[in-house]
Parts: sequence; C-alpha cells; structure tokens
Amino acid sequence: MADFIDVAVIGAGVVGCAVARELSRFRVRVLVLEKELDVATGNSSRNTGMLHAGFTYKPGTLKAECAVEGNQEFDQVARELCVPFKRTGKLVVGFTDKDRENILKYKEIGEKNGVKGLRMIDKEEIAAIDKNAGGEFAMYVPSSGILDPMQYTIALAENAAMNGVSFVFGSLVTAISRVTDEEGQSFYRLTTSSGDYEARWVINCAGMYAPEISEMLGYPKYYQRGFKGEYYVLDKKAGLSLSIPVYPAPNDKGGFSTHATPTVDGNVLVGPDSYITEGREDYANTLAHMNGLFADGSKMFKDMRREYFIRNFAGIRWKNCDPETGEVKDFILEASDSHPCTVNLVGIESPGITCALPLARRAVSLFVKGEEASGREVPENKSFNPCRERPKRFYEMTLEEKEEAIRKDPDYGQIVCRCENVTKAEILAAIRNPLNVHTLTGIKNRTRAQMGRCQGGYCMTRITELLEEEGITPEDIRYQKADGYIFTGKVRP
Ligand SMILES: Cc1cc2nc3c(=O)[nH]c(=O)nc-3n(C[C@H](O)[C@H](O)[C@H](O)COP(=O)(O)OP(=O)(O)OC[C@H]3O[C@@H](n4cnc5c(N)ncnc54)[C@H](O)[C@@H]3O)c2cc1C
Repeated sequence: MADFIDVAVIGAGVVGCAVARELSRFRVRVLVLEKELDVATGNSSRNTGMLHAGFTYKPGTLKAECAVEGNQEFDQVARELCVPFKRTGKLVVGFTDKDRENILKYKEIGEKNGVKGLRMIDKEEIAAIDKNAGGEFAMYVPSSGILDPMQYTIALAENAAMNGVSFVFGSLVTAISRVTDEEGQSFYRLTTSSGDYEARWVINCAGMYAPEISEMLGYPKYYQRGFKGEYYVLDKKAGLSLSIPVYPAPNDKGGFSTHATPTVDGNVLVGPDSYITEGREDYANTLAHMNGLFADGSKMFKDMRREYFIRNFAGIRWKNCDPETGEVKDFILEASDSHPCTVNLVGIESPGITCALPLARRAVSLFVKGEEASGREVPENKSFNPCRERPKRFYEMTLEEKEEAIRKDPDYGQIVCRCENVTKAEILAAIRNPLNVHTLTGIKNRTRAQMGRCQGGYCMTRITELLEEEGITPEDIRYQKADGYIFTGKVRP
C-alpha cells in the first residue's frame, strides 16, 4: 500500500464527521472523502435542527435507542464542541379526539423508550408556556432541544481534524475494489474524482448515496424512498414571538406534518411538510407547498405573517423501506465477515442529527472489534482532546467585551454583514478555518454573514473582496458546489 490509511470514511455529513471524531480517540490514520467542497452540504444542513427526545420510534430500534442516548448526552457534547444549543422543550399539540389518541399512544411509546417527563397539558398551560403556540391541548416534552446542525457538523469535523483526521473535499467515490498486494496484505482501493486512495477499512456514511456505496462494498443496494420536506425561514422579528418548538400531533405512523421551530439564533423555521420525491437532490421549493406551509404553520404559530419570510429551502429524508409494502424500516448499521473491514450505515434519516454520535460510537466499536479479532491492537490516542473552541461571536458579546475585542483587533470594529452584525475579524477567521474551506456558504455557515434579512445582498461582495485579499482569486470563488462559480473575469480593466 502506497499511502497508508487505516480507515476511509465516505461522506462528511453529520454522521461521517461524528464517525471521524470518534475514530480520532484512537491512534489510527483516518481520511474523510467528501464529494462536495465542505462538510454538511447534504441533508445535514437541510433539517430542523431539533434534538429529538425519542418518543415516536418503535421501542428496541436503533432509532429509539440512539435518539434517547443522543438526547441525554447533548448538554455535555454542546459544551465540549462549543455548539449553540438550547434545551427548550417541545409542545406536541392537538385539536381533535384522534389527535389526543395519537399523542397518548406516542406518550406511552416515549415512556417505554425512556423519555422522561412527558405530560399532557391543557390550553391554559400552553398559553402560559407560549401565547403564540396553537393547540387545544398538548404533550409537553421537556427534554427536546434546538441546535445549529451546520455548526454541529463543522465542530465535529474540526475536532476530528485537530485530533489528526484528514479531510479531502471534491472527492467523489466512484468505485471500490478489494486488492491483495505481493505481501498478502488486503486493502480497499477507492477510485475518486480526486485520485485513488488505499485504505484497510471503509466506513460508509454517504447519506442519500449510501445504497450505492453499500453495493460497491458488496452489501445489498438497500431500497430507499425520499420524503421531501419544504421550509420557510422567518426573520428574527418572528423569533421574538416564539420560544418553544410547536409540533402537530403525530399521524398513525409517527410522522409529523408542518411544525414551527425557533432556531438557536432567533429565527423561526416553518416546515417541513412531507411528500414522496424521486429526485435525489430535488431541493426546489414549490408554490403549492409553500402555500400549504403557510396554512398549516399558522395553526402551530399564531403570529405567522408573510412579511416575516426571508428564505426557503428543502431537505429529503431518505428512509430505508420495504420494497414490497413501503413500510419504513430502522437505520442500518452493520459489519460482516463476508465484506471484511467495512462498516455500512444506510438510511440515516431523521433523527440522524440527534443520533450521530451514538451511531458513530457503535460504528467505531465494530471497527475496534474487527481489528482485535484479526490480532491488531487499536491504541488509544492519548493526546485526544474532546474540546473544540469557537471564539465568541461579536453579536453575542457584551458592550465591554466588544470594546475589548476592538481594542485588541481593530477588525472587530468593521461590520461586514449588517443584518447579523458580523465583523471583518470573524469573516477572516472563517476564511482561515481549519478545514481549509473557501466557499461562500462555508463562510455563511461559520459566521451567519449572508443569513439575515438581505440574504447577502449587502455583504457578499465585501466577503469576496476579503477572500481575494486572502489570496483566493475571484474566478476561483464558488458559492457552494464545485461548479458554482460566481465570477467569470473582470469586465473593466
Ligand atoms: C427535512 C428534514 C428534517 C430533519 N430534521 C431533523 C431534526 O430536526 N433532528 C434530527 O435529529 N434529524 C433531522 N433530520 C435528519 C438528519 O438531517 C439526517 O439524518 C442527517 O443529516 C444525515 O446525515 P448523513 O451524514 O447521514 O447524511 P448527509 O448529510 O447527506 O451526508 C452525506 C455526505 O456524503 C457525501 N457523499 C455522498 N456520496 C458520496 C460519494 N460517492 N463520495 C463522496 N462523498 C459522498 C455527500 O456529499 C454528503 O455530504 C432531518 C432530515 C430532513 C431531510
């Protein structure tokens, strides 16, 4: 083997980055291969950012087990990784007898799964918790919370990188073959758009493309169906009138339709709805669904107004399904002697953000067991540091802290994004990020610049100037995708 890699992780969504971080607790050489130019460009950035409690998943499933575990440990995880997180609780509200029946059914399931503190409340108590929450009655879920899923994925990746993991972006895995060299050593050769890599182990974390990678590794090409959901993002004025996520009663299959969720930064997300799509990356928003969101969202959030809309987006939950009946199945997490040195994760749909670290620990324990079974030691990484720091954002600082920051670094005195109050110092820190990502969405997800009311209308050109000052020529700047160029050349000398 030319360039020795112990484990190749395919995919840098929240699951791949969590796996990479957990692998970095050991002294093994890990490479994450990601087809896009940054982490969290797939469904890990196209979701609600709820830390789910675990009351809708069938007892005994991986979904239930990992959701409850992931929920209970998240205060510590958020502290270690500096991830914006609030344990807000959640209201699951109902209007009809059928809603009450379903809520009570899922309350019982939640209790079986170990979700603590679930209780039914009446309309008066709903109003006391939040006057803008809809519903005639509700189940109060104290352990639910909200987090920033992009920041979480970035934090996992940065923590993995500081503990020794390497990331290669723009690297689409197109084929995998098992090779045995002259000395009888077997390994995998991964053919990618950025060249070939050789690794002893492969862990499949490819999200919606996991069935294809699964097949390349010799596992079945599992059958998935895409449940698309569209969203509205409401500006921070709406965030002032909603303090807690409000979900409608689950349907008979445990699914929710449109909900209203405050974000950690003070916006409100309305959505997602849910409908089947065939398009793998079909993230378009559609008028019919946006109108549906307005009608359904208004039942959850009484202060819903059209003037609050600042953006929309969509995500797709790729669920493992029975090809005959369409029945939704559990996450797949497996290793097999017939496909040595592989761990296969397929169908990690919702609640994949909540479950990422518990799933990663289970995946890494399959790797360790496999190594030990073949007589290899897996030494601990004694210098592993679970903590990743993130400098305080300017808008989070007190007046005194702001004055001190500007005194030490005058770049804190220059506001680049007016909507979100992001300074030149923060943009420069984001451009110099440890993963060496230079897309505009990379800077957006790291700083919130371009996320405000004007959606980058004011600051985007200033950010591109700063990128140029840092040595990135405008013609090389991409919005998000490898072919997402913004500039074609100078129009004036
Ligand atoms: C609408 C919606 C709402 C949701 N809400 C929540 C929620 O509130 N709470 C919660 O816990 N979960 C939620 N989820 C679920 C959660 O977002 C996903 O489970 C999670 O993001 C999946 O992460 P992943 O890493 O498996 O996949 P992804 O984020 O899709 O990452 C997979 C990565 O693999 C890369 N890749 C794919 N193929 C290749 C290849 N051949 N070579 C190289 N790279 C490749 C992709 O580019 C991608 O970056 C929601 C999901 C959706 C869609």
